[in-house]
Amino acid sequence: MAAKSTPMMTQYLMLKAQAAGCLLFYRMGDFFELFFDDARKAASVLDIALTSRGEHDGAPVPMCGVPVHAADNYLARLIRAGCRVAIAEQVETPAEAKKRGGSKALVKRDIVRFVTAGTLTEETLLEPRRANRLAALCVVRGQLGIAACDISTGRMELEDCGDSELAAVLARIGASEVVVPEDLPTGETIDASAIPPDAVTRPAQTFDSAAGTERLQALHGVATLDGFGNFGRAALAAAAGLIAYLDHVGRGTLPLLLPPVSRGNNSALAMDEATRASLEIVQTQDGRREGSLLAAIDRCVTGAGARQLAEDLAAPLLARDAIEERLALVAWLHADTMLRGDLRAAMRSLPDIGRALGRVAAGRGSPRDLGQLRDGLGEARRIRDHLAGLESLPPLLERVLPYLGGHGALVDLLSRALVPSPPTERGQGGYIAEGLDASLDELRQVSGNARRAIATLESRYREETGIAALKIKHNGVLGYFIEAPARHADALMGPDSGFTHRQTMAGAVRFNSLKLHEEANRIAEAGGRALAAEEEHFTRLCIEVEEHRQSIAKTAEALARLDVSAGQAERAAEGHWCRPSITNGTTLSIVAGRHPVVEAALERSGSRFVANDCRLAEDDRLWLIGGPNMGGKSTFLRQNALIVLLAQAGGYVPAESAEIGLVDRLFSRVGASDNLARGRSTFMVEMVETAAILAQATPRSFVILDEVGRGTSTYDGLALAWAVVEAVHENNRCRCLFASHYHELARLADSCDALSLHHVRAREWKGELVLLHELAPGPADRSYGLAVARLAGVPKQVVERAKSVLDKLEKTRAETGGVAAGLGELPLFAAAAAAEEEECDIVRDRLRSVDVDALTPRDALDLLYELKKEVGTSEN
Ligand code: ATP
Repeated sequence: MAAKSTPMMTQYLMLKAQAAGCLLFYRMGDFFELFFDDARKAASVLDIALTSRGEHDGAPVPMCGVPVHAADNYLARLIRAGCRVAIAEQVETPAEAKKRGGSKALVKRDIVRFVTAGTLTEETLLEPRRANRLAALCVVRGQLGIAACDISTGRMELEDCGDSELAAVLARIGASEVVVPEDLPTGETIDASAIPPDAVTRPAQTFDSAAGTERLQALHGVATLDGFGNFGRAALAAAAGLIAYLDHVGRGTLPLLLPPVSRGNNSALAMDEATRASLEIVQTQDGRREGSLLAAIDRCVTGAGARQLAEDLAAPLLARDAIEERLALVAWLHADTMLRGDLRAAMRSLPDIGRALGRVAAGRGSPRDLGQLRDGLGEARRIRDHLAGLESLPPLLERVLPYLGGHGALVDLLSRALVPSPPTERGQGGYIAEGLDASLDELRQVSGNARRAIATLESRYREETGIAALKIKHNGVLGYFIEAPARHADALMGPDSGFTHRQTMAGAVRFNSLKLHEEANRIAEAGGRALAAEEEHFTRLCIEVEEHRQSIAKTAEALARLDVSAGQAERAAEGHWCRPSITNGTTLSIVAGRHPVVEAALERSGSRFVANDCRLAEDDRLWLIGGPNMGGKSTFLRQNALIVLLAQAGGYVPAESAEIGLVDRLFSRVGASDNLARGRSTFMVEMVETAAILAQATPRSFVILDEVGRGTSTYDGLALAWAVVEAVHENNRCRCLFASHYHELARLADSCDALSLHHVRAREWKGELVLLHELAPGPADRSYGLAVARLAGVPKQVVERAKSVLDKLEKTRAETGGVAAGLGELPLFAAAAAAEEEECDIVRDRLRSVDVDALTPRDALDLLYELKKEVGTSEN
């Protein structure tokens, strides 16, 4: 450290060293200041002024600052920009510092907390409808373990997973922060590209399964974790790393952690990362909620409900009983519009008790959080009373109903203890209700009396001095004082006035008096004691709440489940959706299915969605779908995958009827995209995903494949598509919708008996293309690619040129006798070659006839133009 550092800079640099990898918010009075590179970074992210303060090592120190009262807003922006922040607070008052070390003593500061994306609890920093997860992963003896939690609600889950599943599991969890050991063995053991580049590293020894077991046992006061589930060593080691990180960021204060839930390998419908991304389940491919399946179906009235729905969609169920249980509750709420309306109205005003509990348990609670718990738990009890009086309750409701009650004593206590709308800040007091504590009431009375006495004193002074404008005022620096206009200063300054001069302002003078001093002291003393008494009550109430944390969390979960089911019933009623019938067979039969996102988008523009059927069964399990561009093939593929997903998440589906033979894995390869971050081109991504499907799809799986082979040359692409269809049909034997523009694939219907041909219909009418978006049996006749290109605004001359090339190709195709069975002699390519040959002939003839010596430069240029036109623009 530089010898010339000031004491403040020395303290700053010491704290900064403890805040490795984080921006340091250094508290100075009413501001958090940032210095050096932190200041540069924060100033650019927050768009605030970068200034400087003093010098360090002979250079000015860059600085910027944010006001403490608005810090949350700035923190939120920094976190969103991917920063982590360490908060260094003043841990003693300036007066204490002076007492300790004399007038020049520096106020002690310490890092009280780290604010990171995965460890937020503040209402202002969290999105109400989105869970905020932190995940930790590690490898123990070649086995990968993952622990994840949402500390805003305390939910925690552990799982062991195969290394090839890492990307899929992380995609399902959707963590905002990932913690890994320093020595994570990437490469051979796990795919390094699956780990987010900004993952936090922690010492390897903190990832220890024995320590994980002990911490969890101690946290939940149990001698064994068996009651919570079966946890592998790797998952327990990951839990140890996760808890150690939480310890570190909370500086020893652990947030709310509920008993861990074990996630087995086969607990949910498996979907890999690519499938999730392609189906745009909880977010679109560009990361927005709007436009996703979730946004199109979310009718929840609470944030907790919306978070639960997202979780349901991210991990649809595999067990028929559990799905039926959810469906029965949705059906019950669907059938009774009035009950559903009442329930939703009651839940609309529910505070987010799960998150309020999270803050209280993390030691970051406020009186407002306690008020929310009081109101939320009270309302939950009223909802329970209302529902319990009804007949033939569905089993899931019977099961969750008891969790809605059971907090009578706590609600009563909080009701007696708190004012109706408690504040977020405790500094001013006033949140404990009158009547709870006689001594607090007395203290308040004392300060009330003193305030009244001050008001009386003001009138008395006015009378005695004859100055009508005299006032008794209060401010943070002087406390109470008497103020009069400056012109009366002399009259009040006299030794017998009883007033002592304190301050002269531009137009006023300020005084004190013995009596005012006495009353002000009474207020200050009683006020201070009242604040301390309120603090004590607050702490006691927080402890009381914490003692009920598991049951409060259950209430929050039960309310969320009710909200999800009522929201699904509402969505179903709105869109005339149906209850799917779930079977253990392998039939997938959807009548008049629709795509919820596309349908909603079309509705907004006043268009109608065309419903289509899909019937896959053992003897007809692979549909090959052709038809025009923009005809609706991808939409059809996706809508059926989404219907399966919605059904297995336990909800109604956008169709007239649906029979869903349970699906174990869902695969979607629709639309091409590259993944440059992982060093993969579009075609490489396509092949990696196709390989995963061929390796993993089982006869119970459902696969949608769109345009396989389009990313390479026509020969290679068609050959690949052909072979993939055969493999899916012969080896995987899964249910599959395969869309393609390769008409040649139609020949596969001759050799694959469980494959059938379908197409989306279109017509050309008066030269215009009319897309009917209607699925029909049989092969497609054409692709109408040129018509779509024209619609898209491709220049007329290019479309015309394409048309002439197409005519030539088709002519040659007709001459060579249509589609050949052997891939090596496909006429499409022969036609292309023939067309090229013909062009060459024309050019050759033209060149032969030219007398080059007789050409002027201008003629030569014209000839070049002419030849170029002959060979077409596409080859330029
Ligand atoms: P391409 O072959 O060019 O990829 P595609 O056949 O896959 O096209 P989609 O992308 O599914 O076509 O659909 C194109 C557009 O057609 C959609 O954005 C939507 O606006 C409309 N569309 C698709 N399906 C339907 C439908 N069933 N009813 C009404 N409009 C539809």
